[in-house]
Amino acid sequence: MSNHFPTVGIIGAGQLARMSVGPAVALGVNLLLLANDSHDSAAQIANHIVGDYRDLETVRAFARKCDVVTFEHELIPLSIIKSLEADGVVVRPSSASFIYSQDKAAMRERLSKFPAPKNWVVTSENEVSEYPVIAKAISGGYDGRGVWKVNNKAELAALLKDVSKLLVEELVDFDYEIAVMVARSPHGQATTWAPTQTIQRDGICTMTISPAPQLSAALSEKAQKLALDIANEIGVVGVMAVEIFVKGSELFINELAMRPHNSGHWTIEGSVTSQFEQHLRAVLDLPLGDPSMSAPFAVMGNILGGAKEDMYRPYLHLMARTPQLKFHHYKKQVRPGRKIGHVNLLGENLVELTQEVEHALKYLSGEIDE
Ligand code: ADP
Repeated sequence: MSNHFPTVGIIGAGQLARMSVGPAVALGVNLLLLANDSHDSAAQIANHIVGDYRDLETVRAFARKCDVVTFEHELIPLSIIKSLEADGVVVRPSSASFIYSQDKAAMRERLSKFPAPKNWVVTSENEVSEYPVIAKAISGGYDGRGVWKVNNKAELAALLKDVSKLLVEELVDFDYEIAVMVARSPHGQATTWAPTQTIQRDGICTMTISPAPQLSAALSEKAQKLALDIANEIGVVGVMAVEIFVKGSELFINELAMRPHNSGHWTIEGSVTSQFEQHLRAVLDLPLGDPSMSAPFAVMGNILGGAKEDMYRPYLHLMARTPQLKFHHYKKQVRPGRKIGHVNLLGENLVELTQEVEHALKYLSGEIDE
């Protein structure tokens, strides 16, 4: 590189890549994206190549232009990541870690010494004797797609007609869900942010509250230690989300995502170093930034595509009403239920923060008009 500032290649050009652009600009680091389409959320505002991430030669040609390659989704075939590594490309996280965010069965097996729901990989309904259970596609699921509550043998048999192999898990009657975002560098430096409570509706995260308000100090420590231990155990490089169920004083690992994650969107304003900046630092093996919170509470609300097409006009009302509210728009086509942006609000009074975020989401979706 002529200017000595490296180029980070991100496979994918959705909102996660888009939100990495600001931090990359600030650091002076170059970004190059592999986009599906030049209209993709991040391709609209950043250098990119249009190509298919499932095509080895396309990804190889892309990687040659980058000093380090990372991802913003889990769909890149592991064989492609391994081929890049064999070519000598620096891929972070590496295939050896990344597999645990792609393959839920491999993740369960690899992390068997950590607390998790009881689980089995099954190919026949006769292998399960107690119901209800949770069945999961081993790879490819997201936002609740690929996860089913199964009440009896007949339902499991029906599912196994479509998918020959499923991960079946004990249904954990949890009190609430949290995520711990962790970052780890090749030097082994690692940091966590305050655990976040994630609130889901129909399998989609709608809101996060940080720090998770019901989590005791002791459990918060335990959850952060768990995330750090997992990051170390699998040698992840970059940012990782560890999704956890909380039941009383017990923690159960749900799943891992090895990239900036919806559970960490609050860090953009809510933390000294956002998950997007931290991911860049980590994959570049720079010293990690301070993950402390910049306010007592941070509430994030996901803007889901609804009745309203025009997402600009609502700014007038909402910005006038709540000047502290921060908007992040992904510039994606509005489709019902699709995550098209989020809002962040920081402060001390959690009840007020939650009410304001809920109001903003209802106003943005067209559910209320004042
Ligand atoms: P996705 O890949 O779609 O994010 P997850 O594995 O996170 O799938 O599961 C989606 C949701 O299903 C979780 O947020 C949780 O609410 C529920 N769920 C998943 N596994 C279990 C389980 N073992 N017990 C109870 N609920 C579960």
